[in-house]
Amino acid sequence: MDPIVRIREYQRDRVNFVLENVDLAFANSLRRVMMADLPTVAIDLVEIETNTTVLPDEFISHRLGMIPLVSTNCDAAMRYTRDCNCLENCAFCSIVLTLNVTCTDAVTMDVTSNHLEIQPHPNEGTEEAGEEQVRRSDTFGMPVGKKEADVDPILICKIRKGQELKLRCVAKKGIAKEHAKWSPCSAVAFEYDPHNKLRHTSYWYETDEKAEWPLGQNAREEEPPREDEPFDFNAKPNKFYFDVETDGSLGAQEVVMKGIAELQKKLASLVLALRRVRNGENEMDVPTSGDQTFGDQPVAGSGGEATWGSGPASSWGSSPGSGGGSSWGNNNYGSGGNTTGTWGSSPQGSANAWSSPSNAGWGSPSAQANGWNV
Ligand SMILES: [Zn+2]
Repeated sequence: MDPIVRIREYQRDRVNFVLENVDLAFANSLRRVMMADLPTVAIDLVEIETNTTVLPDEFISHRLGMIPLVSTNCDAAMRYTRDCNCLENCAFCSIVLTLNVTCTDAVTMDVTSNHLEIQPHPNEGTEEAGEEQVRRSDTFGMPVGKKEADVDPILICKIRKGQELKLRCVAKKGIAKEHAKWSPCSAVAFEYDPHNKLRHTSYWYETDEKAEWPLGQNAREEEPPREDEPFDFNAKPNKFYFDVETDGSLGAQEVVMKGIAELQKKLASLVLALRRVRNGENEMDVPTSGDQTFGDQPVAGSGGEATWGSGPASSWGSSPGSGGGSSWGNNNYGSGGNTTGTWGSSPQGSANAWSSPSNAGWGSPSAQANGWNV
């Protein structure tokens, strides 16, 4: 049976749908990809010029990083800085925003995301040619809701008379595996088997399980179990209930569609890697455009399996990202509480680790995307 998608509710930043006739692993992969693998734009570097507010620089940097920026079509409209040819950042791989607010009134003033202004990039026009910028919408990189009167802006801090906040931010493309600020989703609800017929869940209760765990809306979609129904240990979940809510950086439709495309891309790269192993190729070189047919499957015989066990012969083992140079292992963004680097305090090592071409292996999400078009 073919997979079925039934949309129950759709809003600009939220979609509720039921996915049927797929297995649990697939449905869960889709959930994880939507949350962690879709690129968006977020503030990544903050240069603070003046801060006489009550909040310290790091606090404000972190809050700025968490502001959702409009990221429609981000995968095609922007480059990762680590894949860019520029030395530091350029108009292709970054967006510059500034904030300059001073309170002159006797009343407390709110500094919000609406005070952030996009600036033309200082290196604009000096870089190599590229098509990324023409794929951007007018609002690309702007805080979500800035142009909409009915959307409340995001509070950054409150200032009183005489206090000032002046800073410059560089927003970059990234994914939520690197830092949660790049996730387009604020919440992804995921449920299957609402009556717990499969007994994947064991409920904790005091006296009455049914009274303490009332059934949700999704339970109406499925037949309740009979009192005397025997446990079917062969049963598998088949119906999955999703509720995807985005932070506004991407629309709900874009999140689901790009999520499926991303999953397809990941599986295709796995098929390719397995095929290379079968063919006895040690090097995991970037495939050329003519090398993108995934029609034939790796044979599940001695050839394919033996190569996996032999370590160095496997494409995974020879990944350039491993061996200490892994960009995931030694980046400084994920460690500690310093979520958004400031120019002054960010360790130089972290910036270099990302931009170094030697890291463009399995560790680099963009390297997987390069040329693996499905
Ligand atoms: Zn660049």
